[in-house]
Amino acid sequence: MNPSNAVASAEAARLPLMLTELRLPTAKRLWPQIADQANREGWPAERFLAGLLEHEIAERETRRLQRNRATSQLPAGKTLETFEFEAVPTVSKAHMMALAEADGWLGQGHNLLAFGPPGAGKTHLVAGLGHALIDRGYKVLFTRTGDLVQKLQAARRDLRLPAELAKLERYELLILDDLSYVRRDQAETSVLFELIAERYEQRSIAITANTPFSGWDEVFPDKAMTIAAVDRLVHHATILEMNVESYRRRSAMPARRPRASKEQQ
Ligand code: ADP
Ligand code: MG
Repeated sequence: MNPSNAVASAEAARLPLMLTELRLPTAKRLWPQIADQANREGWPAERFLAGLLEHEIAERETRRLQRNRATSQLPAGKTLETFEFEAVPTVSKAHMMALAEADGWLGQGHNLLAFGPPGAGKTHLVAGLGHALIDRGYKVLFTRTGDLVQKLQAARRDLRLPAELAKLERYELLILDDLSYVRRDQAETSVLFELIAERYEQRSIAITANTPFSGWDEVFPDKAMTIAAVDRLVHHATILEMNVESYRRRSAMPARRPRASKEQQ
């Protein structure tokens, strides 16, 4: 081995340690093959370094999105691609696709409210939007409203409510699924109001509910708080009325009954 080769192999032996130390796992994995190619093809040093770092940056972004998706708790497979927009004529696909591009609404803390009976596709549609936003690098948290209310109540008991609300701030979109299942008699729901007030005009909330606002008197502790919560939520909001028959029930039926047979009844 000539002296310069000996130096190169001593450096090569130190590289994995240095790349671990610097937390560059992709560079650590790929440098031998890229260095090989660079040596064979006589690349300038700049090209080698830039090539290696591009790989690290690209994989770092992929890892970040994977992490965001895992922490989002979004139901897997409920994406916009698998959502049949034809089944819900009141929802415009183009509008949803624009929201999925995050055309400014997240930055301004605008909200999304989806109403409709059970099985209408509310959870699927809103989760699909969540997945699309994760693809674009946003942080999203999907939670059943009841679960979050319980968590916030526990935090309040331990005098940690402000800290817990602050933790939720890092999510650009918070999806509260099934808000109307929360009942004030089961719990102290004013934490839900505090959450809504805290995020108002700062951070977006998406809500699914079976009953529109008229039924929310059952959710919040008193009428004044219901009005104050609804007021903040709708101030800047897209409202989706999904008054369609249950998708589950429709897809369980082989075909729609023809009109004529209905008239004969
Ligand atoms: P909701 O939240 O309104 O009760 P879900 O979103 O849970 O309804 O929908 C019920 C089931 O039907 C889910 O499995 C969902 O994936 C499916 N579904 C509902 N609407 C659609 C749709 N338009 N296209 C594809 N699947 C749908
Ligand atoms: Mg649902």
